[in-house]
Amino acid sequence: MKRKLAAGNWKMNGTRAALAELEKIAAAHPEAAVDILICPPYQLLAQAADIAAGSPVAIGGQDCHNEASGAHTGDISAAMLVDTGATAVIVGHSERREDHNETSALVREKARSAIEAGLTAIICLGESEAQRDAANTLDIIAGQLATSVPDITTGANTVIAYEPVWAIGTGKTPTTEQIDEVHDFIRARLVRRFGETEGAAIRLLYGGSVKPGNAAEIFATDNVDGALVGGASLKAEDFSPIIKALE
Ligand code: PEP
Repeated sequence: MKRKLAAGNWKMNGTRAALAELEKIAAAHPEAAVDILICPPYQLLAQAADIAAGSPVAIGGQDCHNEASGAHTGDISAAMLVDTGATAVIVGHSERREDHNETSALVREKARSAIEAGLTAIICLGESEAQRDAANTLDIIAGQLATSVPDITTGANTVIAYEPVWAIGTGKTPTTEQIDEVHDFIRARLVRRFGETEGAAIRLLYGGSVKPGNAAEIFATDNVDGALVGGASLKAEDFSPIIKALE
């Protein structure tokens, strides 16, 4: 039985004072029935990992470089994330794809680098509003999935997050039928590529304006193994009910 995953992406939000929210989340879920992951900005990672130690909360990065080390000013490697105490990393978030021109081929190399360093790679995929309006969603997802996911992927080392770009931070969410359609499609493609066992074991998260008020309905959808949550992960009072909805 796959454990569900509630993952929070703090993005470029939070100074040390924000760690009080992490303390509250860890205290509120001493024996969580689901996996909980918080991805704070880099400067908080090591301290966050210390705070979360001994609790069910794991800590992750929001991106990593595809190479292990070298002349890449301002970047961070997967091994550096591991050194902070992180156990996972988000790669291919649409904000990285858009703001930093990250291609699916680069995302695949980042995921590979993360997995080789011992991190769980959370690989993000999602269509834009124009792509959905043009009825191209499944083609876009198929292309991103084929190119962004490395061959070394297994259920243990990779999580896929379906995040429609138009739903991120907008308050708009797809219908549960639309989520169902895309998650079923992703599952079928993963099974075809990685086989029945591994393809079924890879967790599929939904992300995009998940809130305490819509979490239960989204989590009742087939093939939704958890959520990647942005804005509503910043405060324990919002993230805790989402975790509970998943349990
Ligand atoms: C995200 O950025 O991964 C995300 C899902 O953001 P939000 O929950 O704020 O829409």
